[in-house]
Amino acid sequence: MNNEADTQPSAWAEVSLANIAYNVQVLKSTLKPGTQLMAVVKANAYGHGTVPVARAALDAGATWLAVARVSEGVELRAAGLDAPVLLLGPIAPAEATAAVNAQLVVSITSLRFAQALADAAQAAGTTASVHLKIDTGMSRFGVPLDDAIGAAQALTRMDGLRLDGVFMHFATADEADPSFAQLQIARFEGALNDIRRAGIAVPLVHAANSAGILAATSYHFDLVRAGIALYGICPNSAFTQCADLRTALSLKSRVAYVRAIHRGTSVGYGRTFVAPRDMHVALVSIGYADGVRRALSNKGEVLVRGHRARILGRVSMDQIVVDADACEAQEGDEVVLIGRQGDAELSAEEVAGWAGTVSYEILTGIGARVPRVYLSANNANSR
Ligand SMILES: *Cc1c(COP(=O)(O)O)cnc(C)c1O
Repeated sequence: MNNEADTQPSAWAEVSLANIAYNVQVLKSTLKPGTQLMAVVKANAYGHGTVPVARAALDAGATWLAVARVSEGVELRAAGLDAPVLLLGPIAPAEATAAVNAQLVVSITSLRFAQALADAAQAAGTTASVHLKIDTGMSRFGVPLDDAIGAAQALTRMDGLRLDGVFMHFATADEADPSFAQLQIARFEGALNDIRRAGIAVPLVHAANSAGILAATSYHFDLVRAGIALYGICPNSAFTQCADLRTALSLKSRVAYVRAIHRGTSVGYGRTFVAPRDMHVALVSIGYADGVRRALSNKGEVLVRGHRARILGRVSMDQIVVDADACEAQEGDEVVLIGRQGDAELSAEEVAGWAGTVSYEILTGIGARVPRVYLSANNANSR
């Protein structure tokens, strides 16, 4: 990126690492004594930037990191971070060597893959640390419950591997009804008992995502895996500790220009908005390639001068048009798509509601061309 783009981007995301650090402390204060915190930084740290977030989380007291792809783990190592990194999902056998070389702790979801990893580790003259993932109800990946003990036994016999942990993942921990989460935990504890009764030591047991952390300390075990809450978003507003979390990301752009249009003039592709009166419209330099969902066409709102202004017509790849009369927009004004401006706020959850999705998809969908700007501590949002 050239310097001009650095100093005056059309659209940018401001990230408060102080708020990430603060959220680590809030989450740590909810943990059962002795439980460690893993910062989940997959998908570019939910759009916030992998390496800066990982560093901030570790400095604030997280002791583990987690990623979904080998490339994400390699990026952490290349930045000089040497904390333990768990690779959460299954990877292709062809990626085993890269995972071993980056010293990632690898999730085992099938014995066939475990053998490929063991071979790669032995070829590299090392031992790969692995965590066995047990499927207790997600039916996505992980060894089936009934195979858990057999898999644990097989892993302890494989040269080149060391079984250092066992984990599961919740399907519904963010929901009001705790019954399925409790069933998953009961299944998990049953499998753990079987494994331990077979004389296999399990140094690290973990189950909880953000919702699990906030739902019950009985879900904490040795380690918890915090994603969305680390970024200040509450998985369910019924969790009272959420009140203390601080969002860390704002998505911003600028008014490129304001123009007057006559009643009856159509705006944008497909002419889906027709001016009901003579009015002013503002062109804003951000579009769906930057992460403004096209589903926000004629529906979403932005903040200008502390007021809400509606998106008019379709979201384009690089631009949106908004109602300038509602906010008295002027050329060059800052436009907030996620975050606060004055007393007004647009949360990632509200944006997700317009788009019919979840805050996770909004945050991870912020475009690669949007520069992330890291605020210094004294610039941090107070909320
Ligand atoms: C992404 C992920 C998490 C983090 O989930 P949040 O809901 O964002 O806290 C935890 N565990 C696993 C296995 C994941 O894939």
